[in-house]
Amino acid sequence: MRIGIVGVGKIAQDQHLPAIANSPDFQLAAAASRHGKVEGVANFTSIEEMIEDAQLDAVALCQPPQVRFAAARHALAAGKHVFLEKPPGATLAELRILTELADANGVTLFASWHSRYAPGVAPASEWLAGKTIRSVTIEWKEDVRHWHPGQAWIWQAGGMGVFDPGINALSIATAILPPFFLSEGVMEMPANRSAPIAATLAFQDGNGLRIDAVFDWRQTGPQTWDIRAVTDQGELLLSKGGSELRIDGQQQALPPEAEYPGLYERFAALIAAGRSDVDTSPLCHVADAYLRCERRTVEAFED
Ligand code: NAP
Repeated sequence: MRIGIVGVGKIAQDQHLPAIANSPDFQLAAAASRHGKVEGVANFTSIEEMIEDAQLDAVALCQPPQVRFAAARHALAAGKHVFLEKPPGATLAELRILTELADANGVTLFASWHSRYAPGVAPASEWLAGKTIRSVTIEWKEDVRHWHPGQAWIWQAGGMGVFDPGINALSIATAILPPFFLSEGVMEMPANRSAPIAATLAFQDGNGLRIDAVFDWRQTGPQTWDIRAVTDQGELLLSKGGSELRIDGQQQALPPEAEYPGLYERFAALIAAGRSDVDTSPLCHVADAYLRCERRTVEAFED
């Protein structure tokens, strides 16, 4: 399948281009970006021109979430299969419209959650099945200056601030834990920004299981991307964003990291099956945080 990529920024260059280059299912035919270019393919400055000229089967949308809807709508209406980077949009309601448009046009819409394809996630889910979970703690802490240098969009309305990485933790938690909801929380908002730099969240499931999460962008040095679950039969620690798994302190053997190859394999399988996959549950928790949390103004953040 001929695929075009939209938004040639960090994630497109770091992950999508190599994953497509090694995919048996996709061939990169074009790129659309206002400034970025990809060598060796047709380059355009808008998705409209790219779709008009490049004879594509599919597009991968790698721009910030605030501008994804218009591009996705255009591509779906033109009969192209669409791969959405995470988070799949800036709101929940826009995703419903896109899902219906994909169905009406007989094409695939894929809301990708790359962290679910980290090597420890499926084994963690299998290990937890059938056990009684007593408590869960999630710590997702990193240095925003290291991971998001110069990304103005991430601090603007719809950019989600610390939920941009935090939603990766939520994408894993929603895959391996029973359904849960936010019962209280605090979002720390820098005085000069429209998105939180930190959030402390207390979730619970329908049976009183408590899930405590802390997302923080002010950690310097090594990042912490950990999910710990205490069960009636021992303790599970999923660390480094799902790439390492320990059971009762014992490191488990895992396959090598292959998140984006796994995503493209899944996208191809969905297209072959004539289906879409738009799981909005991680984004729902972020939306709920904006509904349910107390807001505290903290020190202004300067790049
Ligand atoms: P980025 O480096 O800022 O790249 C995004 C690209 O989108 C820009 O280079 C820009 O290219 C294009 N774009 C189109 N409209 C834009 C607008 N209004 N404002 C800013 N850029 C615009 O961001 P990124 O880190 O690649 O993140 C993009 C998406 O991937 C986000 O949803 C993010 O959550 C997700 N993601 C990022 C990572 C990561 O490690 N960075 C990991 C996984 C997922 P032109 O100027 O050329 O149009």
